[in-house]
Amino acid sequence: MSTATAAQDWKLVIHGGAGIIERAQMKPDKEKELRAGLDRALEAGARLLASGGSAVDAVEAAAKALEDDPNFNAGRGSVFTYDGGHELDAAIMDGRDRAAGAVAGVTRTKNPISLARAVMAQGDHVFLGGAGADQFSREQGLEQVPPDYFSTPERQRQLDELKAREHSAFDTEVKYGTIGAVALDSHGHVAAATSTGGLTGKRWSRIGDTPVIGAGTYADDRACAVSATGAGEYFIRAAVAHSICARIQLKGESAQAAADAVIADVGALGGSGGVIVVTPAGETVDAFNTPGMYRGTASAQGRKVAIFGDE
Ligand code: ASP
Repeated sequence: MSTATAAQDWKLVIHGGAGIIERAQMKPDKEKELRAGLDRALEAGARLLASGGSAVDAVEAAAKALEDDPNFNAGRGSVFTYDGGHELDAAIMDGRDRAAGAVAGVTRTKNPISLARAVMAQGDHVFLGGAGADQFSREQGLEQVPPDYFSTPERQRQLDELKAREHSAFDTEVKYGTIGAVALDSHGHVAAATSTGGLTGKRWSRIGDTPVIGAGTYADDRACAVSATGAGEYFIRAAVAHSICARIQLKGESAQAAADAVIADVGALGGSGGVIVVTPAGETVDAFNTPGMYRGTASAQGRKVAIFGDE
């Protein structure tokens, strides 16, 4: 339970996806761009937290910065569906009262994380999907963009390659570029946000873990805030984000022990990916069973980004 009475240290952790991300394959220019993009997102969230802003505002701001960056698989830069479109998923959750908002399969909203926030703020529902979510977005006055706003040549190449190989449902390069943020604000509250284009070549209105509250996204002031990235089907089956919070709350595990145990469980099912976690006590951890994960942390002490597993 959050018992913070005085202003406490704020924390922000972000990710830009996990996967087969290795030094040998990374071009120096691309690495620079990716690190700069992560740092910009940290800066956007940290600015709010440093001036006493809320965790939920900070995770939305950080997520928006990553959605606007074409290098990540969320917002601009989202992967293509099998039919050559984009279907975006996002969720946000406020640890104060476990208010949550989520959207799946939206096609026109520039920043799906802000649409999830609008669902949370409107309050009647938690989870909207497809054409109805697009309609709600227009009614809420959120910025709409043509579908090709989300398209980039690199994502087109990935779809073409997947089709050429008649690969399974999963990305050929196994890079989960989903983005997410978790924060602890100076009032002792936590929040989580996650946004994604899903998996390259997805069909049949497939929805991953990202917008599923308790799977890809969860926040509870009594335990922690979690944002996940990886092979969504496994993360849904392992109820990853809620399981980490439950282990902390009910078993008294440290955030690192809980995150490691749940990622090991995903691995045992055959899945790969990672999580970022923050607790109301100020623990910030990540855990992933892939070679790398785009990630970063910020606090009053400064900002740090990392990509590879050995950083
Ligand atoms: N978890 C996302 C999904 O399954 C993919 C990702 O993390 O990039 O939709």
